[in-house]
Order: sequence, then C-alpha cells, then structure tokens
Amino acid sequence: MHKIASFTVDHDLLDEGMYISRIDGDVTTFDMRTRKPNNGDYMDNVTMHSVEHMFATLVRNSAIGENVIYFGPMGCRTGFYLLTRNVEPDVVFEETKKVLEGILNEEKMYGQSRRECGNYLELDLAKAKTECRKYLEILKAKGEKNDFTYKGEKI
Ligand SMILES: [Zn+2]
Repeated sequence: MHKIASFTVDHDLLDEGMYISRIDGDVTTFDMRTRKPNNGDYMDNVTMHSVEHMFATLVRNSAIGENVIYFGPMGCRTGFYLLTRNVEPDVVFEETKKVLEGILNEEKMYGQSRRECGNYLELDLAKAKTECRKYLEILKAKGEKNDFTYKGEKI
C-alpha cells in the first residue's frame, strides 16, 4: 500500500503550530496542530466538534471565506485541517488568528440544532473558546512570520 503524505511526517518532532501539510495544484492543506502529538493530552470530542462548528462558520465569513474549501478535525484529536485555494499562507495565518480572536467574542454556538448537525447536543461554546484561546496564544508566539514547514527529515 502506498504511504499517504501525512504519514511521512515525523510526529515525534511535531509541536503545536500551523504547518503546510500538502499542496495539490492550487489547493493548500494546512495542519492546524493545537496539541502536541502522542503527548497524552488530546482534545475531547465535545471540544473538537465545538471548534469545528465555530471555526468553520467564522472562517467562511472571513476575508478569505471564498477561498476556504474545507475545515475539519483530525481523527487523532490533536488538530484540524484547513484547505484553501488561491490565497497566500501568510494571509491565511493572519486570518486564522482573527477568526480565533472572533470566536472568543462569540456568544452563541452556530449550527446547534437537530436539523443542522448530526450530534447537536454534543457542543459547548465554552470548550471551543478554551481551545481557541490556547491555540491563539501559540500562534501569536510565532510572531508575524510563521514557519509553515515541518521539522526534521521526512520518514
Ligand atoms: Zn455538528
């Protein structure tokens, strides 16, 4: 079986941050890593689901909304994938911080109804804010110019 690109990243060298996972034509996949992999500290499902609802809504309503193809959680519960088209990574980075900031100011959970979601009771705005606040601090600490490259040799 051919090994897929995301399995070639050495997850032991991966810290919280924002990386470019892959580029397919004009589509860029960002690895939004909110937790250090294999570190015993994973998002619970409510947190992950709640961030998904909030970030997806706000990023699609942001300045890069038209360029967003997809946002969703990683099954390993240590981060999210954001797919964009025709937008510079530095711009995505700045907008991501604005979206996270925006989530902290929200007072309602989007898409929290039986008709809009497949598990609408498993959502909690406070949990989304806690994760987004922490991730925002991580991204702010990277400075103006984020390094999107994964560390170390590919395995
Ligand atoms: Zn949902």
